[in-house]
Amino acid sequence: CDFGRNRISSTSNFAASTMYIPHHATIASLTERLKLDGELRIDNVHHAAKDFGNRYSLLPAAVLYPKSVSDISSLINYVFQMGPTSGLMVAPRGHGHSLEGQAQAYQGVVVNMESLGKSQEMQFHIKGETRPFVDVSAGALWIDILHEGLRYGMAPKSWTDYLHLTVGGTLSNAGISGQAFRHGPQINNVYQLEVVTGTGQVVTCTDEMNSDLFYGVLGGLGQFGIITRAHISLEPAPKMVKWIRVLYVDFAAFTEDQEQLISSNSSFDYVEGFVLINRTGLLNNWRSSFNCKDPVQASRFFSEGKTLFCLEIAKYFKEGDAETTDQKIEGLLSKLNYNESTLFISEVSYVEFLDRVHVSELKLQEKGLWDVPHPWLNLLVPKSKIHKFASEVFGKILTDTSNGPILIYPVDKSRWNTKTSMVTPKEDVFYLVAFLSSAMPSSTGKDSLEYILSQNRRILDVCETANLETKQYLPHYSTQEEWKRHFGSQWEVFVRRKFTYDPLAILTPGQRIFQKAT
Ligand code: FAD
Repeated sequence: CDFGRNRISSTSNFAASTMYIPHHATIASLTERLKLDGELRIDNVHHAAKDFGNRYSLLPAAVLYPKSVSDISSLINYVFQMGPTSGLMVAPRGHGHSLEGQAQAYQGVVVNMESLGKSQEMQFHIKGETRPFVDVSAGALWIDILHEGLRYGMAPKSWTDYLHLTVGGTLSNAGISGQAFRHGPQINNVYQLEVVTGTGQVVTCTDEMNSDLFYGVLGGLGQFGIITRAHISLEPAPKMVKWIRVLYVDFAAFTEDQEQLISSNSSFDYVEGFVLINRTGLLNNWRSSFNCKDPVQASRFFSEGKTLFCLEIAKYFKEGDAETTDQKIEGLLSKLNYNESTLFISEVSYVEFLDRVHVSELKLQEKGLWDVPHPWLNLLVPKSKIHKFASEVFGKILTDTSNGPILIYPVDKSRWNTKTSMVTPKEDVFYLVAFLSSAMPSSTGKDSLEYILSQNRRILDVCETANLETKQYLPHYSTQEEWKRHFGSQWEVFVRRKFTYDPLAILTPGQRIFQKAT
């Protein structure tokens, strides 16, 4: 494919930091010429050079705090009109929870999307709607949509495990959690988007109107436009949740049960799972927040030295329905093959369940362990390869899970809309395997950044050498060749869309896919 070859250069020697440093005069002209509702700041830009990954830090020249969509379109249009030689690039920044500088722009302009989120109201369209939705700024946080929606008894259907992320940030990736087996990821639960393209044009798009842009930006890693508003599908919100954990020693039994659960519509409302390797006092830990069905047997259960697989499932219910829900759960559990002494159940509010990771965040923040480097690796592994993957990685490359959780759960793509930019394995059923490690800054041991990164590389090597046909989720590469391989047959469309909607490659340089045109 020759699309854009002359105008969008290869990133194989990606070095935006040295090649395209905009002149001070360019930034000065921006501050003078743009008529903004919000403001463009050139002081105090350091926070925009940080993200959750805590490994990349590229200082921008300025940060735009937009108060209107026109602020964003004026900025981009101005940069576009300056032409390729200005060297200026623009990165939308949601909540900055990227892992490898994806929302950063060296000496460019970072657009603080939360500023737009705070200046625009959420509009709930519920009464008389066959498809109720919330019309929301892309800079809004999912946790705020949850709280606001509950005032109307409504909530989005598909979530991420952590809700302090922006709508635009997760829609640029996918937004996958334990509800995705039923509803698809968040990018499958959007009816309409408003997007500012790389020329500064404001475009409304849906499945039927400007659908190429609509599907392009969903999972599009911020490459074709900045999402400014989204219509997100809603359902009546449950009040309460039965939250359940059970353990397996046998990986085959664990995956068989997970796959059976995601294949049925009448099963649980949330299906996830995680791996535990050589954990001490595991069940005692759980007792602080879960009730154990068989405390005597559970106290005899040892986790030390073992590789265990925890199925995490949840059933939503309305207040007053607890008893019938218990009966349904009993029926569903009776078909599973977990270790019976390890059944743990908790009853929590819907908000407590969905916002569960924030509780851990607060604890880690207190101990100063939240703002450490996070060398995360997220993989999508085809169902037919998951056993090979597990036997090569769990217990071999990873001999304990003390650096952070490892999530593992299947989803079924046959119910998803596959027109988006998101890249998945070829098989319909695949597993999300997320290695969510934290590194200790001054360590030189097994919890050091170097050690964890080398483990990640070994895992990626196994995928390559054993031909496991995995794909990275929240992908990160440094050469365009790797990106081409990642996108596979979708690469041509991806490049064509870049050429169409962001012809000078102004947008989102932190993904390191394209370099600005010269
Ligand atoms: P940012 O990091 O600010 O931006 C992410 C990317 O999107 C950047 O390239 C940015 O330039 C671009 N972008 C931001 N806003 C826009 C916009 N409006 N329009 C176009 N492009 C934009 N992901 C899951 O799928 N499931 C999970 O369960 C999950 N759990 C997580 C838990 C934690 C603790 C963390 C830190 C991350 C988790 N993630 C999960 C990953 C998360 O979805 C992504 O990192 C997401 O990008 C973060 O959103 P953000 O608002 O912080 O985006």
